[in-house]
Amino acid sequence: MNYIPLKLPSKCIPYENTDPNAIEIRPFIGEDSEILSQDKNKNIFKRFKKIIERCLRGIDPGLLTMGDIVYITLWQAINSYSGKVDLEFVCEHCFKSLFKSIDLDKELNSEDLSEDYLKSQTKEIAGSEIKLHLLTLNDSIEIMERSLNNLPTTLYRNALTMENGSTVDENVEFLKSLPLRDINEIEKFQDEFAYGPIMRAPYMCTECKREGEIDVPFRFELLFSFE
Ligand SMILES: [Zn+2]
Repeated sequence: MNYIPLKLPSKCIPYENTDPNAIEIRPFIGEDSEILSQDKNKNIFKRFKKIIERCLRGIDPGLLTMGDIVYITLWQAINSYSGKVDLEFVCEHCFKSLFKSIDLDKELNSEDLSEDYLKSQTKEIAGSEIKLHLLTLNDSIEIMERSLNNLPTTLYRNALTMENGSTVDENVEFLKSLPLRDINEIEKFQDEFAYGPIMRAPYMCTECKREGEIDVPFRFELLFSFE
């Protein structure tokens, strides 16, 4: 099957030695869908990485930040599946129950990563300069693994984003005694540089005729229409 050039919304800014023009993708084939639907109770991010390794060229998928992962997921939902998501929701004005079929290709917008990312990665946390990174697919796999093993993930998630030469466990210990306000600073970085598809779609209420917006949930099962 032919590969198609793919422009990631990160423009590859977070990735070292990666040519943004060399990223290519192909739609899923039957075997990909089979791999994705195996081991349903296991780590979905791990399974997703396995199939993305098969259909993406030009970068190690584990290093991709979640903004690019969401983008690739939508690309596959559009190019390999129906590209539509049926949602039931409640009108934010009159609370009537509504249905809408969202056309992912037409109704969702995407935002590129800010050019300031690289020069804004270092934050002053509790008096020391700490370099942070946006969560990657590999980070998400680790967080999900802990979650599946009923281990706490909040501090671990923040520790994973710190690039200070310490191990993740050392950073978890460091965070345990850090004021919550400083931990919130670390967390805020993820929102500050959030990018990729904006998972919100407009609607017009059939009852009160007013317009609103709904959240389109990001769930692999929903986007890839498998149970
Ligand atoms: Zn309404």
